[in-house]
Amino acid sequence: MQYISTRGRAPALPFDEVLLSGLARDGGLYVPAVWPMFSRDDIRAMKGLPYAEVALRVMQPFVGETVPADALRRIVEDSYAGFDHSCVAPLKQLAPNLWLMELFHGPTLAFKDYAMQVLGRLFDHVLAARGERVTIVGATSGDTGAAAIEACRDRGNVDCFILYPRGRVSPMQQRQMTTVDAPNVHAIAVEGTFDDCQDLVKAAFNDTAFRDAYGLSAVNSINWARIMPQIAYYFWAAVNLGAPERPVSFSVPTGNFGNVYAGYAALQMGLPIERLVVGSNANDILTRFFDSGTMEMRGVVPTLSPSMDIQVSSNFERLLFDLFDRNGAEVEATLTAFRRDGRFAVGDNQLGRAGALFLAGRSDDDQAVETIRTVRERTGELLDPHTAVGIRAVEQTAASRDPAVPVVALATAHPAKFAAAIERAVGTPAALPERMADLMERPERTPVIPNDLVALKAYVQERVVARGAAA
Ligand SMILES: *Cc1c(COP(=O)(O)O)cnc(C)c1O
Repeated sequence: MQYISTRGRAPALPFDEVLLSGLARDGGLYVPAVWPMFSRDDIRAMKGLPYAEVALRVMQPFVGETVPADALRRIVEDSYAGFDHSCVAPLKQLAPNLWLMELFHGPTLAFKDYAMQVLGRLFDHVLAARGERVTIVGATSGDTGAAAIEACRDRGNVDCFILYPRGRVSPMQQRQMTTVDAPNVHAIAVEGTFDDCQDLVKAAFNDTAFRDAYGLSAVNSINWARIMPQIAYYFWAAVNLGAPERPVSFSVPTGNFGNVYAGYAALQMGLPIERLVVGSNANDILTRFFDSGTMEMRGVVPTLSPSMDIQVSSNFERLLFDLFDRNGAEVEATLTAFRRDGRFAVGDNQLGRAGALFLAGRSDDDQAVETIRTVRERTGELLDPHTAVGIRAVEQTAASRDPAVPVVALATAHPAKFAAAIERAVGTPAALPERMADLMERPERTPVIPNDLVALKAYVQERVVARGAAA
């Protein structure tokens, strides 16, 4: 399997190179040159299999020969072995044709664990095989950093440094990063904002001497290996609800477009998906696009669903590539104009094709809170505020969907992660799962650095060198 860039000017690469490089050298995102196809018989054969086995079958063709089959099996099985539900991604019925798929049974209680756990192990395996090491440096406003730290802990060939804005992440999110007791992972509080953290990371990557000396690498959501494991749970849900005989639709609370793009990938691979419903909060750039064909940037407003507070959705470039019939030059021209003008529009042809698959809804905070409350009253289930946005979008798009087709709404985080929203909706915060009940009492490591590249470099240097000496 080879991967090509959405901008058409970078060399095609095999899976292991795509894994380690993340972004393509022409600034584009890597996508499979051809989609692996699953026949109706292949899909039928997944019925009744455990989650890890479905995931392995879905990922195998993307990885190809770059990781030996037995090693890939071990990686996938280990990734999900520690999840706290034997189904890994259990389905719960909410209404006659509506199911919730719980994607919060991993170590940090959000769906990012489903990909990050695999990504960390793939990195370690590929690096060990090459006799290489990398230093992961990233910035987080919450969920991604915690998932990355959990995925990198104790991996022999990876050092991981995650910057977060001091005092500006929730206590729960901070503790998920700062209480991990492993010598190779470091959550660092920066005296500044999330944007300052991101700028520091960018500056570190632009420092070529530093980047090369420490083998800097990123695990952000544009890495193909973050998308790939997410495709598995679309197959899992559809097969459990009767695919290939019965088509299904999905509703996905969306920020960077990575999760819902994995659903799009599943469809390209032969899974009978009828509709993909995108849920936006007040930062509704995607919903406005699917309504009008115009993508237009606006400022970000903070909401109760912070993991969707985005100005642009970076993974949308992958869909755009297909809407432009895989013409990389057209993608590049469009996105260059977007950066310059803050907007672009697609033609009726592209909008028509996008609209035949995607539907979109939006909720402000009050609507999300109301949805949490009513779903609790009707079913007893407690939704996190991101998931509530997705459920609301199911209702908002009902008139455009076939009522006979079941909808699976993705529950992207555990309600206990967003205590304030839950308290506002139902009066009391949600309880943490038992395995994390003592999170707020665990000892923290909370190093602080100034918003300064020299300080960051010194911090990284000292720890990577110390670990090298110990090894
Ligand atoms: C990251 C995240 C999202 C958004 O997912 P994208 O892949 O960026 O669209 C939604 N909900 C939660 C809880 C998240 O952590």
